[in-house]
Amino acid sequence: MLPVTSMIPVEEARQRILAYFSRLDPERKPLLDALGQVLAEDVVAPFDIPPLDNTAMDGYAVRAADTAGASEAAPVQLRVIADLAAGYVLETPVGPGEAVRIMTGAPVPPGADAIVPFEETDEALRGINEAARKAGSVRILKAANPGANIRRRGEDVQAGSTVIQAGRVLRPSEIGVLASIGLTHVTVIRRPVVAILSTGDEITPPGEPLLPGRIYDANAYSVAALVRKYGGIPRILGIARDTVEDLTAKIREGLDADMLVTSAGVSRGDFDVVKDVLAREGNIDFWSVRMRPGKPLAFGAFTAPDGRKVPHLGLPGNPVSSMVSFELFGRPAIFTMLGRSDWERPTVRAISRDYVKNPDGRRFYARCIVTRGDDGRWYADLTGPQGSGMLTSMSAANALAVIPEDVPAASPGDEIECIMLDWEHAP
Ligand code: AMP
Ligand code: MG
Repeated sequence: MLPVTSMIPVEEARQRILAYFSRLDPERKPLLDALGQVLAEDVVAPFDIPPLDNTAMDGYAVRAADTAGASEAAPVQLRVIADLAAGYVLETPVGPGEAVRIMTGAPVPPGADAIVPFEETDEALRGINEAARKAGSVRILKAANPGANIRRRGEDVQAGSTVIQAGRVLRPSEIGVLASIGLTHVTVIRRPVVAILSTGDEITPPGEPLLPGRIYDANAYSVAALVRKYGGIPRILGIARDTVEDLTAKIREGLDADMLVTSAGVSRGDFDVVKDVLAREGNIDFWSVRMRPGKPLAFGAFTAPDGRKVPHLGLPGNPVSSMVSFELFGRPAIFTMLGRSDWERPTVRAISRDYVKNPDGRRFYARCIVTRGDDGRWYADLTGPQGSGMLTSMSAANALAVIPEDVPAASPGDEIECIMLDWEHAP
Protein backbone atom coordinates (compact mmCIF):
# COMPACT_ATOMS: atom_id res chain seq x y z
CA MET A 1 0.00 0.00 0.00
CA LEU A 2 1.17 3.54 -0.76
CA PRO A 3 1.65 5.89 2.13
CA VAL A 4 -1.44 8.13 2.10
CA THR A 5 0.73 11.22 2.16
CA SER A 6 2.12 10.62 -1.34
CA MET A 7 -0.12 11.74 -4.16
CA ILE A 8 -0.17 9.95 -7.50
CA PRO A 9 -0.99 11.69 -10.78
CA VAL A 10 -4.32 11.01 -12.48
CA GLU A 11 -2.62 9.21 -15.39
CA GLU A 12 -0.78 6.85 -13.09
CA ALA A 13 -3.94 6.00 -11.19
CA ARG A 14 -5.74 5.36 -14.47
CA GLN A 15 -2.92 3.22 -15.81
CA ARG A 16 -2.86 1.07 -12.70
CA ILE A 17 -6.63 0.70 -12.80
CA LEU A 18 -6.79 -0.23 -16.47
CA ALA A 19 -4.21 -2.97 -15.94
CA TYR A 20 -6.99 -4.88 -14.14
CA PHE A 21 -9.43 -4.75 -17.03
CA SER A 22 -9.68 -6.47 -20.34
CA ARG A 23 -12.23 -7.06 -23.05
CA LEU A 24 -15.12 -9.27 -21.96
CA ASP A 25 -16.40 -12.33 -23.83
CA PRO A 26 -18.52 -12.10 -26.96
CA GLU A 27 -22.25 -12.75 -27.01
CA ARG A 28 -24.65 -13.28 -29.87
CA LYS A 29 -27.73 -11.09 -29.94
CA PRO A 30 -30.39 -9.58 -32.17
CA LEU A 31 -29.00 -6.87 -34.40
CA LEU A 32 -30.85 -3.91 -32.93
CA ASP A 33 -29.98 -4.91 -29.35
CA ALA A 34 -26.29 -4.67 -30.25
CA LEU A 35 -26.42 -0.91 -30.85
CA GLY A 36 -23.43 0.71 -29.13
CA GLN A 37 -21.55 -2.56 -28.62
CA VAL A 38 -18.31 -3.62 -30.24
CA LEU A 39 -18.31 -6.13 -33.07
CA ALA A 40 -16.42 -9.25 -31.97
CA GLU A 41 -15.61 -10.70 -35.39
CA ASP A 42 -15.18 -9.46 -38.95
CA VAL A 43 -18.39 -9.55 -40.95
CA VAL A 44 -17.93 -10.65 -44.56
CA ALA A 45 -20.47 -9.90 -47.28
CA PRO A 46 -22.06 -13.07 -48.67
CA PHE A 47 -23.12 -11.33 -51.89
CA ASP A 48 -22.73 -8.10 -53.83
CA ILE A 49 -24.63 -4.96 -52.87
CA PRO A 50 -26.44 -4.01 -54.95
CA PRO A 51 -26.89 -7.61 -56.10
CA LEU A 52 -27.76 -6.51 -59.68
CA ASP A 53 -27.25 -3.43 -61.82
CA ASN A 54 -30.28 -1.27 -61.09
CA THR A 55 -31.68 2.15 -61.81
CA ALA A 56 -30.99 5.15 -59.60
CA MET A 57 -33.90 7.10 -61.12
CA ASP A 58 -37.48 6.65 -62.24
CA GLY A 59 -37.37 6.76 -66.04
CA TYR A 60 -36.79 4.65 -69.14
CA ALA A 61 -34.20 1.92 -69.61
CA VAL A 62 -32.79 2.38 -73.12
CA ARG A 63 -29.93 1.48 -75.40
CA ALA A 64 -27.81 4.65 -75.15
CA ALA A 65 -26.89 4.42 -78.85
CA ASP A 66 -30.59 4.79 -79.75
CA THR A 67 -30.72 8.19 -78.06
CA ALA A 68 -27.75 9.69 -79.95
CA GLY A 69 -28.55 13.21 -81.09
CA ALA A 70 -31.86 13.40 -79.24
CA SER A 71 -32.98 16.89 -78.21
CA GLU A 72 -36.20 18.73 -77.47
CA ALA A 73 -36.22 19.95 -81.06
CA ALA A 74 -35.48 16.51 -82.45
CA PRO A 75 -36.75 13.88 -79.99
CA VAL A 76 -36.12 10.20 -80.53
CA GLN A 77 -39.22 8.03 -80.30
CA LEU A 78 -38.88 4.59 -78.68
CA ARG A 79 -41.39 1.79 -78.30
CA VAL A 80 -42.17 0.99 -74.64
CA ILE A 81 -42.24 -2.80 -74.26
CA ALA A 82 -42.76 -3.10 -70.49
CA ASP A 83 -43.29 -1.35 -67.20
CA LEU A 84 -40.93 -2.49 -64.45
CA ALA A 85 -41.34 -1.85 -60.73
CA ALA A 86 -38.64 -2.31 -58.06
CA GLY A 87 -38.63 -5.89 -56.86
CA TYR A 88 -39.24 -7.49 -60.26
CA VAL A 89 -36.85 -8.80 -62.90
CA LEU A 90 -37.48 -8.51 -66.63
CA GLU A 91 -35.90 -11.28 -68.71
CA THR A 92 -36.97 -9.86 -72.09
CA PRO A 93 -34.08 -7.96 -73.65
CA VAL A 94 -34.51 -4.36 -74.72
CA GLY A 95 -33.98 -4.36 -78.46
CA PRO A 96 -33.03 -1.52 -80.82
CA GLY A 97 -35.68 1.20 -80.82
CA GLU A 98 -37.19 -0.12 -77.59
CA ALA A 99 -37.43 1.13 -74.00
CA VAL A 100 -38.69 -0.17 -70.64
CA ARG A 101 -40.40 2.16 -68.22
CA ILE A 102 -38.57 1.54 -64.94
CA MET A 103 -38.80 2.56 -61.27
CA THR A 104 -35.90 3.38 -58.92
CA GLY A 105 -34.25 0.23 -57.60
CA ALA A 106 -35.54 -2.07 -60.35
CA PRO A 107 -32.85 -4.21 -62.04
CA VAL A 108 -31.80 -2.89 -65.45
CA PRO A 109 -33.19 -5.27 -68.09
CA PRO A 110 -30.77 -7.01 -70.47
CA GLY A 111 -29.89 -4.99 -73.56
CA ALA A 112 -30.41 -1.61 -71.87
CA ASP A 113 -27.29 0.34 -70.88
CA ALA A 114 -28.67 3.71 -69.71
CA ILE A 115 -31.61 5.16 -67.83
CA VAL A 116 -33.27 8.31 -69.15
CA PRO A 117 -35.08 10.04 -66.27
CA PHE A 118 -38.70 11.07 -66.80
CA GLU A 119 -37.60 14.70 -66.79
CA GLU A 120 -35.73 14.09 -70.05
CA THR A 121 -38.69 12.48 -71.81
CA ASP A 122 -42.05 13.73 -72.98
CA GLU A 123 -43.65 11.88 -70.05
CA ALA A 124 -42.96 14.99 -68.02
CA LEU A 125 -45.02 16.97 -70.54
CA ARG A 126 -47.81 14.41 -70.71
CA GLY A 127 -47.95 14.11 -66.94
CA ILE A 128 -48.95 10.76 -65.62
CA ASN A 129 -51.37 10.17 -68.42
CA GLU A 130 -52.15 6.47 -68.35
CA ALA A 131 -53.68 6.49 -71.85
CA ALA A 132 -50.67 8.13 -73.45
CA ARG A 133 -48.34 5.77 -71.65
CA LYS A 134 -50.35 2.75 -72.69
CA ALA A 135 -50.13 4.00 -76.27
CA GLY A 136 -46.72 2.43 -76.06
CA SER A 137 -44.20 5.06 -77.01
CA VAL A 138 -42.03 7.65 -75.38
CA ARG A 139 -40.05 10.54 -76.80
CA ILE A 140 -36.51 10.99 -75.51
CA LEU A 141 -35.53 14.67 -75.30
CA LYS A 142 -31.85 14.28 -74.48
CA ALA A 143 -29.10 11.88 -75.50
CA ALA A 144 -28.03 9.45 -72.73
CA ASN A 145 -24.46 8.35 -72.09
CA PRO A 146 -23.85 4.63 -71.62
CA GLY A 147 -24.14 3.80 -67.90
CA ALA A 148 -26.17 6.92 -67.09
CA ASN A 149 -28.16 6.59 -63.83
CA ILE A 150 -27.24 2.96 -63.35
CA ARG A 151 -26.06 1.72 -59.96
CA ARG A 152 -23.61 -1.08 -60.66
CA ARG A 153 -23.77 -4.49 -59.06
CA GLY A 154 -21.33 -4.59 -56.13
CA GLU A 155 -20.59 -0.86 -56.22
CA ASP A 156 -21.40 -0.54 -52.51
CA VAL A 157 -20.16 -3.90 -51.18
CA GLN A 158 -18.43 -6.75 -52.98
CA ALA A 159 -19.10 -10.38 -52.12
CA GLY A 160 -16.33 -11.73 -49.89
CA SER A 161 -15.18 -8.33 -48.69
CA THR A 162 -15.16 -7.38 -45.00
CA VAL A 163 -18.06 -4.98 -44.54
CA ILE A 164 -17.37 -4.21 -40.88
CA GLN A 165 -14.22 -5.09 -39.01
CA ALA A 166 -14.06 -6.62 -35.54
CA GLY A 167 -13.55 -3.87 -32.98
CA ARG A 168 -15.93 -1.37 -34.56
CA VAL A 169 -18.63 0.19 -32.40
CA LEU A 170 -22.04 -0.49 -33.91
CA ARG A 171 -23.77 2.79 -34.66
CA PRO A 172 -27.07 3.09 -36.51
CA SER A 173 -25.24 3.08 -39.86
CA GLU A 174 -23.39 -0.15 -39.04
CA ILE A 175 -26.66 -1.74 -37.87
CA GLY A 176 -28.11 -0.78 -41.26
CA VAL A 177 -25.16 -2.21 -43.17
CA LEU A 178 -25.44 -5.51 -41.28
CA ALA A 179 -29.16 -5.66 -42.03
CA SER A 180 -28.44 -4.96 -45.71
CA ILE A 181 -26.50 -8.22 -45.95
CA GLY A 182 -29.39 -10.08 -44.35
CA LEU A 183 -28.12 -10.57 -40.79
CA THR A 184 -30.61 -10.84 -37.93
CA HIS A 185 -28.03 -11.51 -35.20
CA VAL A 186 -24.52 -10.35 -34.56
CA THR A 187 -21.65 -11.28 -32.25
CA VAL A 188 -20.51 -8.44 -30.03
CA ILE A 189 -18.52 -7.98 -26.81
CA ARG A 190 -20.98 -8.26 -23.95
CA ARG A 191 -21.76 -5.34 -21.69
CA PRO A 192 -20.15 -5.32 -18.23
CA VAL A 193 -22.34 -5.65 -15.15
CA VAL A 194 -21.29 -3.05 -12.60
CA ALA A 195 -22.42 -3.54 -8.99
CA ILE A 196 -22.83 -0.28 -7.09
CA LEU A 197 -22.76 0.00 -3.32
CA SER A 198 -23.26 3.11 -1.24
CA THR A 199 -21.86 3.17 2.26
CA GLY A 200 -22.53 5.25 5.33
CA ASP A 201 -24.93 5.30 8.28
CA GLU A 202 -26.32 8.65 7.10
CA ILE A 203 -27.34 7.45 3.64
CA THR A 204 -31.05 6.83 3.00
CA PRO A 205 -32.59 5.35 -0.15
CA PRO A 206 -34.91 7.74 -2.03
CA GLY A 207 -38.49 6.79 -1.24
CA GLU A 208 -37.92 6.41 2.49
CA PRO A 209 -38.58 9.19 5.02
CA LEU A 210 -35.52 11.28 5.78
CA LEU A 211 -34.59 11.23 9.46
CA PRO A 212 -32.70 14.14 11.03
CA GLY A 213 -29.02 14.07 10.13
CA ARG A 214 -29.55 11.75 7.20
CA ILE A 215 -29.21 12.41 3.45
CA TYR A 216 -30.53 10.66 0.40
CA ASP A 217 -28.32 8.42 -1.68
CA ALA A 218 -27.31 10.49 -4.69
CA ASN A 219 -24.16 8.59 -5.60
CA ALA A 220 -25.68 5.21 -6.39
CA TYR A 221 -27.96 6.89 -8.88
CA SER A 222 -25.52 9.26 -10.53
CA VAL A 223 -22.95 6.46 -10.85
CA ALA A 224 -25.54 3.95 -12.09
CA ALA A 225 -26.64 6.50 -14.68
CA LEU A 226 -23.04 6.98 -15.81
CA VAL A 227 -22.55 3.22 -16.01
CA ARG A 228 -25.61 2.91 -18.22
CA LYS A 229 -24.68 5.93 -20.32
CA TYR A 230 -21.22 4.50 -20.97
CA GLY A 231 -22.55 1.10 -22.00
CA GLY A 232 -22.52 -0.97 -18.81
CA ILE A 233 -25.36 -2.63 -16.91
CA PRO A 234 -25.69 -1.07 -13.45
CA ARG A 235 -26.82 -3.16 -10.51
CA ILE A 236 -27.54 -1.09 -7.43
CA LEU A 237 -26.80 -3.16 -4.33
CA GLY A 238 -28.24 -0.66 -1.87
CA ILE A 239 -26.65 0.91 1.15
CA ALA A 240 -24.21 -0.68 3.56
CA ARG A 241 -24.25 0.57 7.14
CA ASP A 242 -20.89 1.35 8.65
CA THR A 243 -20.63 -2.01 10.35
CA VAL A 244 -18.26 -4.83 9.51
CA GLU A 245 -21.09 -7.32 9.13
CA ASP A 246 -23.31 -5.27 6.85
CA LEU A 247 -20.49 -4.03 4.68
CA THR A 248 -18.99 -7.49 4.31
CA ALA A 249 -22.33 -9.01 3.38
CA LYS A 250 -23.13 -6.31 0.81
CA ILE A 251 -19.71 -6.51 -0.81
CA ARG A 252 -20.11 -10.25 -1.22
CA GLU A 253 -23.44 -9.69 -2.96
CA GLY A 254 -21.59 -7.73 -5.60
CA LEU A 255 -18.98 -10.33 -6.44
CA ASP A 256 -20.84 -11.87 -9.36
CA ALA A 257 -20.48 -8.58 -11.24
CA ASP A 258 -17.65 -7.63 -13.59
CA MET A 259 -16.73 -4.71 -11.38
CA LEU A 260 -17.74 -3.40 -7.98
CA VAL A 261 -18.03 0.33 -7.31
CA THR A 262 -18.45 1.64 -3.78
CA SER A 263 -18.79 5.21 -2.64
CA ALA A 264 -17.62 6.95 0.53
CA GLY A 265 -15.55 5.89 3.46
CA VAL A 266 -12.21 6.08 1.66
CA SER A 267 -11.04 9.50 2.79
CA ARG A 268 -8.36 10.07 5.32
CA GLY A 269 -9.46 10.35 8.91
CA ASP A 270 -12.77 8.66 8.28
CA PHE A 271 -14.33 7.03 11.29
CA ASP A 272 -16.17 4.49 9.25
CA VAL A 273 -15.11 0.93 8.87
CA VAL A 274 -15.19 0.92 5.09
CA LYS A 275 -11.42 0.96 4.66
CA ASP A 276 -10.90 -1.87 7.13
CA VAL A 277 -13.47 -4.07 5.52
CA LEU A 278 -12.29 -3.32 1.97
CA ALA A 279 -8.72 -4.10 2.94
CA ARG A 280 -9.71 -7.28 4.76
CA GLU A 281 -12.06 -8.65 2.14
CA GLY A 282 -9.95 -7.77 -0.88
CA ASN A 283 -6.59 -6.67 -2.08
CA ILE A 284 -7.28 -2.96 -2.06
CA ASP A 285 -4.96 0.06 -2.16
CA PHE A 286 -5.91 3.45 -0.84
CA TRP A 287 -4.63 6.23 -3.00
CA SER A 288 -4.39 9.93 -2.84
CA VAL A 289 -4.75 11.19 -6.40
CA ARG A 290 -3.41 14.60 -7.39
CA MET A 291 -6.80 15.94 -8.40
CA ARG A 292 -9.66 18.10 -7.18
CA PRO A 293 -12.40 17.20 -6.56
CA GLY A 294 -11.88 13.59 -5.59
CA LYS A 295 -8.48 13.10 -4.04
CA PRO A 296 -9.11 9.88 -2.08
CA LEU A 297 -9.62 6.75 -4.12
CA ALA A 298 -9.52 3.07 -3.36
CA PHE A 299 -8.68 0.50 -5.96
CA GLY A 300 -7.96 -3.19 -6.07
CA ALA A 301 -9.72 -6.50 -6.44
CA PHE A 302 -11.84 -8.93 -4.52
CA THR A 303 -11.81 -12.64 -5.13
CA ALA A 304 -15.20 -14.12 -5.98
CA PRO A 305 -16.17 -17.56 -4.59
CA ASP A 306 -15.33 -19.08 -7.99
CA GLY A 307 -11.82 -17.62 -7.82
CA ARG A 308 -12.51 -14.82 -10.31
CA LYS A 309 -10.91 -11.44 -9.55
CA VAL A 310 -13.48 -8.67 -9.33
CA PRO A 311 -11.93 -5.21 -9.72
CA HIS A 312 -13.12 -2.68 -7.19
CA LEU A 313 -13.26 1.07 -7.56
CA GLY A 314 -13.82 2.90 -4.27
CA LEU A 315 -15.08 6.40 -5.00
CA PRO A 316 -15.03 9.29 -2.56
CA GLY A 317 -18.35 10.08 -0.90
CA ASN A 318 -18.86 13.67 -1.95
CA PRO A 319 -21.30 13.54 -4.85
CA VAL A 320 -19.25 15.67 -7.27
CA SER A 321 -16.01 13.88 -6.37
CA SER A 322 -17.74 10.61 -6.90
CA MET A 323 -18.99 11.56 -10.38
CA VAL A 324 -15.74 13.17 -11.51
CA SER A 325 -13.70 10.20 -10.26
CA PHE A 326 -16.03 7.81 -12.05
CA GLU A 327 -15.68 9.90 -15.19
CA LEU A 328 -11.89 9.71 -15.06
CA PHE A 329 -11.45 6.11 -13.90
CA GLY A 330 -14.74 4.22 -14.23
CA ARG A 331 -15.49 5.23 -17.80
CA PRO A 332 -12.16 3.98 -19.20
CA ALA A 333 -12.65 0.73 -17.28
CA ILE A 334 -16.12 0.21 -18.78
CA PHE A 335 -14.86 1.06 -22.27
CA THR A 336 -11.99 -1.39 -21.89
CA MET A 337 -14.40 -4.18 -20.88
CA LEU A 338 -16.59 -3.28 -23.85
CA GLY A 339 -13.58 -3.70 -26.14
CA ARG A 340 -13.26 0.04 -26.81
CA SER A 341 -10.06 2.04 -26.58
CA ASP A 342 -11.64 5.40 -27.44
CA TRP A 343 -12.44 6.43 -23.88
CA GLU A 344 -10.50 9.67 -24.17
CA ARG A 345 -13.03 12.47 -24.45
CA PRO A 346 -12.79 15.29 -26.96
CA THR A 347 -11.56 18.55 -25.51
CA VAL A 348 -11.88 22.13 -26.66
CA ARG A 349 -9.63 25.04 -25.85
CA ALA A 350 -11.94 27.69 -24.45
CA ILE A 351 -11.40 31.20 -23.17
CA SER A 352 -12.05 31.44 -19.47
CA ARG A 353 -14.46 34.15 -18.41
CA ASP A 354 -13.68 33.59 -14.74
CA TYR A 355 -10.82 33.71 -12.34
CA VAL A 356 -10.22 30.09 -11.35
CA LYS A 357 -7.97 29.56 -8.36
CA ASN A 358 -5.93 26.38 -8.08
CA PRO A 359 -3.72 26.89 -5.05
CA ASP A 360 -2.87 23.40 -3.84
CA GLY A 361 -0.84 21.84 -6.64
CA ARG A 362 -3.53 19.39 -7.69
CA ARG A 363 -5.21 19.15 -11.09
CA PHE A 364 -8.49 21.00 -10.82
CA TYR A 365 -11.48 19.73 -12.78
CA ALA A 366 -13.73 22.78 -12.63
CA ARG A 367 -17.35 22.41 -13.62
CA CYS A 368 -18.11 24.82 -16.38
CA ILE A 369 -20.40 25.53 -19.27
CA VAL A 370 -18.71 25.82 -22.63
CA THR A 371 -20.47 27.84 -25.30
CA ARG A 372 -19.53 29.25 -28.67
CA GLY A 373 -19.38 33.04 -28.74
CA ASP A 374 -20.61 35.28 -31.56
CA ASP A 375 -16.96 35.51 -32.65
CA GLY A 376 -16.96 31.74 -33.27
CA ARG A 377 -14.60 31.03 -30.38
CA TRP A 378 -15.32 28.80 -27.41
CA TYR A 379 -15.86 30.33 -23.97
CA ALA A 380 -15.94 28.68 -20.55
CA ASP A 381 -17.98 29.93 -17.61
CA LEU A 382 -17.76 28.29 -14.21
CA THR A 383 -21.07 26.94 -12.99
CA GLY A 384 -20.80 28.85 -9.71
CA PRO A 385 -19.52 27.55 -6.38
CA GLN A 386 -17.33 24.50 -6.83
CA GLY A 387 -17.87 22.66 -3.52
CA SER A 388 -17.48 18.92 -4.04
CA GLY A 389 -20.75 18.35 -2.20
CA MET A 390 -22.74 20.56 -4.58
CA LEU A 391 -24.12 18.26 -7.21
CA THR A 392 -26.04 21.07 -8.87
CA SER A 393 -22.66 22.50 -9.98
CA MET A 394 -22.27 19.31 -11.99
CA SER A 395 -25.80 19.39 -13.26
CA ALA A 396 -25.35 22.89 -14.68
CA ALA A 397 -22.10 21.93 -16.44
CA ASN A 398 -21.43 20.52 -19.88
CA ALA A 399 -17.66 20.32 -19.46
CA LEU A 400 -14.82 20.03 -16.99
CA ALA A 401 -12.18 22.74 -17.30
CA VAL A 402 -8.78 21.31 -16.51
CA ILE A 403 -6.44 23.57 -14.55
CA PRO A 404 -3.09 21.76 -14.47
CA GLU A 405 -1.22 20.92 -11.26
CA ASP A 406 1.44 23.58 -11.86
CA VAL A 407 -0.95 26.40 -12.77
CA PRO A 408 -1.98 28.27 -9.61
CA ALA A 409 -4.80 30.18 -11.31
CA ALA A 410 -6.48 30.84 -14.62
CA SER A 411 -7.51 34.43 -15.29
CA PRO A 412 -10.28 35.79 -17.49
CA GLY A 413 -9.00 35.70 -21.08
CA ASP A 414 -6.74 32.68 -20.50
CA GLU A 415 -7.21 29.70 -22.74
CA ILE A 416 -8.09 26.56 -20.80
CA GLU A 417 -8.60 22.99 -21.87
CA CYS A 418 -12.15 21.73 -21.36
CA ILE A 419 -13.17 18.09 -21.38
CA MET A 420 -16.57 18.01 -23.07
CA LEU A 421 -19.04 15.87 -21.14
CA ASP A 422 -22.07 16.78 -23.13
CA TRP A 423 -21.98 18.37 -26.59
CA GLU A 424 -25.74 18.53 -26.78
CA HIS A 425 -25.74 21.24 -24.16
CA ALA A 426 -23.05 23.33 -25.87
CA PRO A 427 -25.30 25.86 -27.62
P1 AMP B 1 -17.08 10.17 3.20
O1 AMP B 1 -16.29 9.83 1.97
O2 AMP B 1 -17.69 8.98 3.84
O3 AMP B 1 -16.24 10.98 4.16
O4 AMP B 1 -18.26 11.12 2.72
C1 AMP B 1 -18.01 12.39 2.24
C2 AMP B 1 -19.32 13.14 2.10
O5 AMP B 1 -20.09 12.54 1.09
C3 AMP B 1 -20.17 13.15 3.34
O6 AMP B 1 -20.75 14.43 3.48
C4 AMP B 1 -21.21 12.11 3.03
O7 AMP B 1 -22.40 12.31 3.76
C5 AMP B 1 -21.41 12.29 1.56
N1 AMP B 1 -21.91 11.07 0.93
C6 AMP B 1 -21.42 9.84 1.13
N2 AMP B 1 -22.12 8.94 0.42
C7 AMP B 1 -23.08 9.61 -0.25
C8 AMP B 1 -24.13 9.24 -1.13
N3 AMP B 1 -24.29 7.96 -1.47
N4 AMP B 1 -24.94 10.20 -1.63
C9 AMP B 1 -24.75 11.48 -1.27
N5 AMP B 1 -23.78 11.91 -0.46
C10 AMP B 1 -22.94 10.99 0.09
MG1 MG C 1 -18.79 8.33 5.49
